[in-house]
Amino acid sequence: MTRPPEVGALRARMAELSDLHSVSMLLFWDQQTMMPPAGAAARGERAATVALAIHARESDPELGALLDRLEPWAAGEDPDSDDVRLVQWTRRDFEKSVRVPAELAAEISKAKALGQQAWQEARAANDFSLFRDALAHQIELRHRYVACFEGHAHPYDALLDEFEPGLTTAELRPLFAELRDALVPLVAAAGDPDQPRNDGAFHGTFGVDAQRVAVLDVLEGLGFDPDSWRLDAALHPFASALATTDVRITTKYDEQDFAVALYSALHEFGHGLYEANVDRRLFRTTLDDPVSLGVHESQSRMWENVVGRSRPFCAWLRTRLADALPAALNGLDVDGLYRAVNTVQPSLVRTEADETTYNLHIILRFELELALTEGTLSVDELPAAWDEGMQRLLGVEVTGPADGVLQDVHWSAGLVGYFPTYTLGNLIASQMWDRLRDDLPDVDDLLERGEFAPLREWLREHVHRHGRKFPPRELLRRVTRNDLSVDPFLRYLREKLSDSGVLARAA
Ligand code: ZN
Repeated sequence: MTRPPEVGALRARMAELSDLHSVSMLLFWDQQTMMPPAGAAARGERAATVALAIHARESDPELGALLDRLEPWAAGEDPDSDDVRLVQWTRRDFEKSVRVPAELAAEISKAKALGQQAWQEARAANDFSLFRDALAHQIELRHRYVACFEGHAHPYDALLDEFEPGLTTAELRPLFAELRDALVPLVAAAGDPDQPRNDGAFHGTFGVDAQRVAVLDVLEGLGFDPDSWRLDAALHPFASALATTDVRITTKYDEQDFAVALYSALHEFGHGLYEANVDRRLFRTTLDDPVSLGVHESQSRMWENVVGRSRPFCAWLRTRLADALPAALNGLDVDGLYRAVNTVQPSLVRTEADETTYNLHIILRFELELALTEGTLSVDELPAAWDEGMQRLLGVEVTGPADGVLQDVHWSAGLVGYFPTYTLGNLIASQMWDRLRDDLPDVDDLLERGEFAPLREWLREHVHRHGRKFPPRELLRRVTRNDLSVDPFLRYLREKLSDSGVLARAA
């Protein structure tokens, strides 16, 4: 069948939406990196107008009518064509957008600002009671949001779908239980709560300017192209891209610990590379975005951990830093550096957790979110459940809500179902790495020599170029021929902890 004129009409609408999303992202990037603090209120107004313009286009009844006319045509076309996938994704986004009544959407948006304000106050005062009502309201709003949708086997499925399209609670629950049962004894065997992070490596006093030079030098070795990438400082590092030729990553600097800037930058480089490598054919189609938070996170964790904490990378990093910031190495040889960056410290705060303990922080949040969604846990019972979980999973005593139940911003903004994507990222990264190693058996030698191009090209070919054309489950099958699994991650972790001597040393 010939391509009907409605395809052109759909693409024109999507190009506009893509532009508006990009403007919205630019406002966010500027707010996080450049904007003077007093600009916040005015920026809120500008951003809200752009968000309204996006919502109006996404839920436009004429878009629905256009899709009605296109779907019979799409059913007879190549299911892998860009246009057919575009029709499918646009239908999904349209249905999600129109099912939530405008009144509820407005209430959700308002609760986000109020929730974050209450959370900030409660956290500063180390007092959960100041956050209790705002959180209860957020949970109630989540229940009302879930009720807008039909056909989910579990109410949490509707929340997961926001961040990881198609993922279900029935899939996630046994996967996370298996991971928990393997990690708890591993952390108990390898962990040392009294050890500093990255024991012995990267500690010292380093000025921000010198750190930035060193970080840029490392990033340029990996493939950061100054003609189309930027590196800026941000309190909470993130990456965003306005186009494949305009990639912005951020990092943060701790003048006593170079690891903060280095590993944040490696992490955001992975996110940025995904965005930089999306096929240009998809530009302004709305398919030119990463497909899900889990897959996005798999790319950042791969560069931060699978690459960034490997022995061959440590060897390359050592020579690179020997010129740029020699004091950061504290005289460590390759083995010393490799062991230091893989040490295990059970601790209170998720964002500071090492690779081994990290997923237990996520599993705790997943268990609590499920219970809150199912109604088996009340908001009043949450702090005690948190403290009990930290003891049970990580063996640490919570000292107060600021470093306990109040430590993350997510729930204050109504983001429930988001946390699991961090762990999905770790699982997917290992699954993909196994496949990558089959295709590039000499990858360790390449890393040690600082030849990152074959690795970038493999990721571009198998993952990045597709943007969000294929849903996450389908993409994972195409790349790895498998579904989600915890085995590759656990094997990777055990091997690394043994090989680096972290497990033997603790035993
Ligand atoms: Zn990330």
